[in-house]
Amino acid sequence: MTKQIVFIGQISDKEKTAWITSIQAQLTGVNIIAYEALSPEQKLNIEVAIVANPDPKQLTELPKLVWIQSLWAGVERLVSELPNTKFDIVRMEDPNLAETMAEAVVAWTFYLHRDMPKYLQQQRQKIWRELDLVELKDRRIGILGLGILGSTSTKKLRLNGFNVTGWSRKLASIEGVQCFNGKDGLQKVLTQSDILVSLLPLTHETQHLLNDHNLSLLPQGASIINFSRGKVIDEKALLSHLESGHLNHAVLDVFKIEPLPVDNALWESPKVTILPHISAPTNTRTASKLVAKNLLNYFDTGEIPNAIDRTKGY
Ligand code: NAP
Repeated sequence: MTKQIVFIGQISDKEKTAWITSIQAQLTGVNIIAYEALSPEQKLNIEVAIVANPDPKQLTELPKLVWIQSLWAGVERLVSELPNTKFDIVRMEDPNLAETMAEAVVAWTFYLHRDMPKYLQQQRQKIWRELDLVELKDRRIGILGLGILGSTSTKKLRLNGFNVTGWSRKLASIEGVQCFNGKDGLQKVLTQSDILVSLLPLTHETQHLLNDHNLSLLPQGASIINFSRGKVIDEKALLSHLESGHLNHAVLDVFKIEPLPVDNALWESPKVTILPHISAPTNTRTASKLVAKNLLNYFDTGEIPNAIDRTKGY
């Protein structure tokens, strides 16, 4: 019998149709229905939902829901908005997305390493001045979060010759990289990072982890890249460390409020590069294949893909 699953997402109709068409093309025996087209009877029997920024209320209207497959890698909002629901949350774990993120981390690390923001400012002021060139092996990069995205980025940075240290909850082991964990470990990574990259999920423990105190541990002239979630950094504290001259530059792809409000002071700072949450978008082609594989395997074996651990929050 044909299985029915639902697609729930607060995305444009065009995007919704593209996703459904792309995933459906790889499925036999499974029919994807948009939430809006579900009958009340169908709602009672749905076991699996594919979600893209869903309205949590719609998920609670499916009493037999066993698991949901997110099309995005970050599921922080879902975890916080659906704390008491029983279904599993499976996020996008696509090696292609990890490669895209690693490419972004390497690109923006080089941007900071080769002082591009300073040369841009010099050009605007018609200043012809050579800045000191630091060798790659002497440029210390600290990566916070060594999960799927952090570990892939770390390896790419190493391949490019950077000196990399990393921090995670459990002690990780990555060839050529000094890894740390715990509070003392964080202090070590912070005090020796010329460029600090956040690839940490947002949880109760990581919210404002980069607060005034922890930012003050970074070396004089250090820079920051935040490609994970805005609330990992205390934006006010960051601005004050940039304005005081302690920190050199921040490349921010994620913010406390997105889109970043026009009156936010970060827009005005020459020491901030603002990106509109583009460091690692989901790739429809590779993600559709992965989702179809997860669905077929579930209906074949009953196996739910690797789900997030609600007690840890990621
Ligand atoms: P992941 O595989 O779950 O890895 C998370 C990493 O953070 C793990 O190494 C984990 O430690 C570490 N961590 C979590 N809480 C910690 C804590 N309290 N102390 C120390 N380390 C902690 O996640 P991922 O796939 O790499 O993705 C990371 C985040 O990137 C996502 O949550 C999402 O917010 C963000 N993201 C952003 C974009 C974008 O376009 N900007 C795109 C995709 C994802 P353990 O290894 O010990 O568990």
